[in-house]
Amino acid sequence: MHIQANYPITHLNTFNLVTKTRYYVEVTRQSDIPVLRSDLKLASLPWVIMGDGSNILFTHDIEGVLIRCSYDKIKVVKEDQDGIWLSVGAGANWHDLVAYTVKNNWWGLENLAYIPGTVGAAPVQNIGAYGAEARDTITRVQALNLYDGHRIEFRNTECNFGYRTSIFKQEHKNRLLVHRVTFRLRKLHSGQANLVYEPLKNYLQDKDKSSLTPQDVFDAVIALRKARLPDPKFLGNAGSFFQNPIVSAEYFEQMTKEHGEIPNHKMLGGDYKIPAAWLIEKSGAKGLRHGRAAVSEKHALVLVNLGGAKGEEIVELSRLVQEEVMHKFGIHLEPEVNIL
Ligand SMILES: Cc1cc2nc3c(=O)[nH]c(=O)nc-3n(C[C@H](O)[C@H](O)[C@H](O)COP(=O)(O)OP(=O)(O)OC[C@H]3O[C@@H](n4cnc5c(N)ncnc54)[C@H](O)[C@@H]3O)c2cc1C
Repeated sequence: MHIQANYPITHLNTFNLVTKTRYYVEVTRQSDIPVLRSDLKLASLPWVIMGDGSNILFTHDIEGVLIRCSYDKIKVVKEDQDGIWLSVGAGANWHDLVAYTVKNNWWGLENLAYIPGTVGAAPVQNIGAYGAEARDTITRVQALNLYDGHRIEFRNTECNFGYRTSIFKQEHKNRLLVHRVTFRLRKLHSGQANLVYEPLKNYLQDKDKSSLTPQDVFDAVIALRKARLPDPKFLGNAGSFFQNPIVSAEYFEQMTKEHGEIPNHKMLGGDYKIPAAWLIEKSGAKGLRHGRAAVSEKHALVLVNLGGAKGEEIVELSRLVQEEVMHKFGIHLEPEVNIL
């Protein structure tokens, strides 16, 4: 366990915001929590959980305890003829885990390649991309109660997974620290490529679908992502800033009458999900700037730090984008990024 006081976290957020925390703590095991809680100074402060800071926007210094799980072991907990069950520490790097599973020819995580962050944040956010979500492969999540250190285990159906959300992001936010996540993956012969996402299918169209491997999909996803998203190493960002809004069938129909054809994804219940990037672009907000923050020229859903921006500047820019979209389409864009 490591405890640091007045710790700079500029390197721990992909917006590259200059910020610090009163205390920064890295825990690995269950027994670390009661030890930390017995420190009256730490116990009296608010505790905030973070992973790699790739979906957090810091608007001020943290006047409390920033806690991160750095347990990163990968263990095979079960195997049968068709599948593998992996238990992975929350502090493991997500993309490294995906690369490891792909190297072993296991299906399940390849569509989620190249997403920054930790394994622990994957169930919290129910990360998703290219036609897959973390909930498709997660079987169990083990979490530690930050008040008493007790271990609690959730089955997939108990995680209340939703679009970029879960029980850990809602009622248990900053109370339960995800410690281990179990994934069920398929062996090469018992799985197949998930090509429901059209651009991925198109990218791989020259290949015979039945002979595709997890590596083929992994490589394709990385190539597509690199072409579409600004790299936080050069231009600070947190990926999609807003969620794709969901509107009723009636409202969608009204919109198409007014604006013509609209890209959409029809949901099971009959509602429509509309790409927020399209709404931003059509409302004229792509490329909008506010101080040292801007809407990316590369992808309208990404807000970027042009260099030296403050968190508040990015929040204000996000409000301007919300206003433009509300004005043009009457739709409120909900941030996907966790604003602190
Ligand atoms: C360039 C770029 C592209 C991206 N693309 C995608 C994408 O395609 N799909 C997608 O879904 N996301 C995407 N993201 C967002 C981000 O990568 C994910 O949300 C990721 O899961 C965040 O991981 P993290 O470890 O950085 O979490 P953080 O940003 O540090 O934290 C995110 C939230 O999770 C909570 N949290 C983190 N770890 C734990 C834990 N162990 N226990 C409990 N709570 C925890 C935090 O409190 C916070 O609320 C992208 C981000 C960037 C910068």
